[in-house]
Amino acid sequence: MEIISDISTMQQRCLAERRKGRRISFVPTMGYLHQGHLSLLSEGKRRGDLLVLSIFVNPTQFGQGEDLDKYPQDMPRDAQLARDLGVDLLFTPNKQDIYPVGYATYVNVEGLTDNLCGANRPGHFRGVTTVVAKLFNIVQPDVALFGRKDFQQLAVIRRMTCDLNLPVEIVGMPIVREADGLAMSSRNIYLSADQRRQGVALIDAIRLVKKELNQGQSDAATLISLVEGRIGQEPEASIDYVQICHADTLQDMDRVTGDSVLLLAVKVGSTRLIDNHYLCEEV
Ligand code: AMP
Repeated sequence: MEIISDISTMQQRCLAERRKGRRISFVPTMGYLHQGHLSLLSEGKRRGDLLVLSIFVNPTQFGQGEDLDKYPQDMPRDAQLARDLGVDLLFTPNKQDIYPVGYATYVNVEGLTDNLCGANRPGHFRGVTTVVAKLFNIVQPDVALFGRKDFQQLAVIRRMTCDLNLPVEIVGMPIVREADGLAMSSRNIYLSADQRRQGVALIDAIRLVKKELNQGQSDAATLISLVEGRIGQEPEASIDYVQICHADTLQDMDRVTGDSVLLLAVKVGSTRLIDNHYLCEEV
């Protein structure tokens, strides 16, 4: 595995591979890799000839007072995991190269970013789409893989890729969970043992909704109040949002249909956890 930090070296290297006719798979991350990231890499390996992983803690997607300065990092461990998984190129750019002095260009997807995390984290998606567009221009992938754990992010990236005619196939991958159902996240490390136990309330709430739905309840407000009740049982948990939305438009729905997704963001202590579930699928 080659590790490259320099942007133009990376761009030239990827261009040369494309010219040889090799299909490039790309997985962008902020590092501190877990099984969720590794599932994306395994699928990327299957779908391309050259597997590229980027690790970049992107400052423009963090708001004021968020965890940019303490975001967990362990590059030696990540590099070993990437090597073991068959990553060919690991791209680790510097912040000052991605956003040099005078940087002034941002990509903004309208509409889809107004609701959910967009309402809770102003500017977050502008940072995500900007860095993903830049990374796509550097790596020039044929296919890029993203997790459905960040459901809104995936929808926003699909929209951007389509709207800007970027020649990249976007693949959404299932959520990988811990044995007790907590969605894996680099941020789970912030949780104390007791908070970690409380974090299971998110999947419990999803299961409650699913059960009620199977018994014929499809009123969104009723199902949402079930989630609120379950999360409310945990002493350190506070809800950012619980919504039932259309999977494509991310608009709120009054009744659950085959296109509905339940999305939740919950703070446990100061750690923000997100989760979601397509309500037509089994938990
Ligand atoms: P991050 O490093 O948190 O920016 O995540 C990088 C990619 O991994 C994104 O596409 C995430 O959606 C995906 N990802 C993070 N956690 C999970 C998970 N538990 N299951 C599947 N994909 C995930």
